[in-house]
Amino acid sequence: MTLRILGAGVMGLALATELTARGHAVELVDPAPAPGPHACSWWAGGMLAPFCEAETGGEIVARHGQPALDWWDQHTGLTHRAGTLVLTLARDSGERLRFARRTTGHRTLDADGIAALEPDLAGRFASGLFYEAEAHLSPRAALAELRARLLAQGVAFHTAPPATQPDLVIDARGLAARDQLADLRGVRGEMLVLRCPGITLSRPVRLLHPRIPLYIVPRGDGVFMLGATMIESDRRGAVTVRSVLELLSAAYALHPAFGEAEVLETGADARPAFPGNLPALRRRGGTLYANGLYRHGFLLSPAVAAMAADHLETGTIPDFMDEAPT
Ligand SMILES: Cc1cc2nc3c(=O)[nH]c(=O)nc-3n(C[C@H](O)[C@H](O)[C@H](O)COP(=O)(O)OP(=O)(O)OC[C@H]3O[C@@H](n4cnc5c(N)ncnc54)[C@H](O)[C@@H]3O)c2cc1C
Repeated sequence: MTLRILGAGVMGLALATELTARGHAVELVDPAPAPGPHACSWWAGGMLAPFCEAETGGEIVARHGQPALDWWDQHTGLTHRAGTLVLTLARDSGERLRFARRTTGHRTLDADGIAALEPDLAGRFASGLFYEAEAHLSPRAALAELRARLLAQGVAFHTAPPATQPDLVIDARGLAARDQLADLRGVRGEMLVLRCPGITLSRPVRLLHPRIPLYIVPRGDGVFMLGATMIESDRRGAVTVRSVLELLSAAYALHPAFGEAEVLETGADARPAFPGNLPALRRRGGTLYANGLYRHGFLLSPAVAAMAADHLETGTIPDFMDEAPT
């Protein structure tokens, strides 16, 4: 049985990896020859944060996101398991209490606890939340690693569909699949990459704010990914002045050293999302659609890939993955 996967973003690569590991024959088709800025996955922060993401995504995201840490370890070896630190400015402490109530897997830190974890933030925050069991990775390195391992196992990557007929098509084209999935929408995310040798962070830090929640993900060597806006729009063009102002202001509030940072890169893309902001698997004839990863492409693609493989082997699709087809 030959499975043809359309799309080599994080969803397509996770599907190919999981299916190959289970002994299925797959091929990938993507007009782009390698991971790059054409794909939403290129712009991601790479936070593997099942507990923090439950704040908006609920228990289902926490449950299905937790196995992602081991999955990425196993298939890339690139996971940093250093947890997530969640902070607020003093005036926004109500946000921290609200966030704590809506999530699990955290403990409260005082100023000394924060300083012990992140010495460069010493004296800046009186209290915070630490999600010890979370992790992060570099999305670009992880995509490249999945692709390299698949190539090494003989999986074919095509830039156009081969003439042969596959037994099943798995459509993982992200937002491009809107031509088949009418309820798929874009949620625009903007980000920056900064170089700031003046500060060292060992883990993603989230700064809660009623209007501009910010996160900073360390990439090593003084480089940080700063994200991300959440705008109901499928526009993929350049970042806006307003978004850059808001993101950089929040970074400066986290630590004034960011005022001296170099802006290495700005980027934006539209996250593919269904109305409930949860991924879905939909089977229509000879095509299985795997889409709607929203802000959880790296967190939930391993679970979606496992459910897609289960579907091929047993015919099942879990209820929550099978939203009303359109
Ligand atoms: C700023 C930002 C920050 C984010 N941070 C995080 C994070 O920290 N953690 C997390 O888990 N998620 C994060 N996300 C979300 C994540 O990036 C997305 O959920 C994920 O990239 C969606 O992956 P995908 O494979 O479905 O789509 P894409 O990555 O867009 O891949 C789709 C692929 O399909 C290909 N394609 C298009 N048309 C065709 C065709 N006709 N035939 C074949 N192939 C085709 C494209 O070339 C592309 O390679 C973030 C997103 C943004 C924008």
